[in-house]
Amino acid sequence: MMTRPACIGIGLAHCRRLALLAWWAGAAFAADAGKLTVTWLDTPVHGLAVVVETPAGKVFLIDTGGTRAAKTGGEPAYDSGRDAISPFLKARGFTEIVGITVSHPHGDHYGGAPWLLENWKVRSFVDNGYTGRGQTEGYLKIRTTAQQTVGVYPLNEAAAAKSAELRATAQKQGGNYHAVVAGDVLDWDPSLTVEVLSPPAEFLGTTADPKKISEHGLLNQNSIVLRVQHGKNVFLFPGDCYGGGFEGHLKATVTPERLKTTVLTAPHHGFNPGTNFPKWTQAQIVVASCLADYPGNANTPNPRSPGTRAHRVFGALGAKVYVTAWHGNVQVVSDGETVKATSQRESEPRPEPNDALPAPAPAKK
Ligand SMILES: [Zn+2]
Repeated sequence: MMTRPACIGIGLAHCRRLALLAWWAGAAFAADAGKLTVTWLDTPVHGLAVVVETPAGKVFLIDTGGTRAAKTGGEPAYDSGRDAISPFLKARGFTEIVGITVSHPHGDHYGGAPWLLENWKVRSFVDNGYTGRGQTEGYLKIRTTAQQTVGVYPLNEAAAAKSAELRATAQKQGGNYHAVVAGDVLDWDPSLTVEVLSPPAEFLGTTADPKKISEHGLLNQNSIVLRVQHGKNVFLFPGDCYGGGFEGHLKATVTPERLKTTVLTAPHHGFNPGTNFPKWTQAQIVVASCLADYPGNANTPNPRSPGTRAHRVFGALGAKVYVTAWHGNVQVVSDGETVKATSQRESEPRPEPNDALPAPAPAKK
């Protein structure tokens, strides 16, 4: 249930941003009824937040973006749930969220979830049920909140049979949330087939030497990967998956034909497109949800641009690549036969920030 207007406690600039967002969100509404509409929200903090509006008019979220802490503590200065997702959903006329899927327990994916769970009616909450190395108290608290607040929203019968053990475990823990793994099927809409491709029930990389995979990498690699089919169109949401273990799992469990994708969320925001994954998926449209650039790290001392990387890798394979930092909100509408993409603004690809320009030659006298 919503209990407070989104603009309370945030500045005028944010309100203006929300008003623009609301206008953009509402503008295409009527024309898209009866179709599958997927929107990647552009947020001023690093993260991924995808709104999926099904042909039957229900709304699901795949990840909920990040937050920026306030300097003085207390409520976050920016909260993707409060400041991006909620105003967008309101502008589209929604009064409840049928489901939230958190791909993996990192703050840039679950950051908006607590505010949404407290302020909206959320009927289901899905994560991968992982409790191993790298799992944090903070995220377990969110899972507990979800268990206490969401309503029951069943997986379909086929999935129930396959994942009976997991569901029993979830119920034993007192929850109405669902832990899903590869092979599960989610019942979102009669016009859609929503399948979980990864992680496997035993999870990836958990038996590896801790020196070979960091806690951070372990959580990324075990992101929930959703394949959403609408007629001829396939949307793939791989969370922050990358690496040999992930690609090996796909190769062993998914036929090449089923990996072919119409619209792909760039894995790991575009930072790690994968070795084989780009050519396996052959996406027509790729959306990277990221900031324009990021500070360097130990491997790359200069600023890094995941958008540029995604553009280079997927663009070379013929995809049209959208980057939220460049294009703003990106929306793809499927009628089951074709897809149509729109964005808040047009953008040329940005140069790679690591390609330092040579110093200009001294002027000849
Ligand atoms: Zn991430």
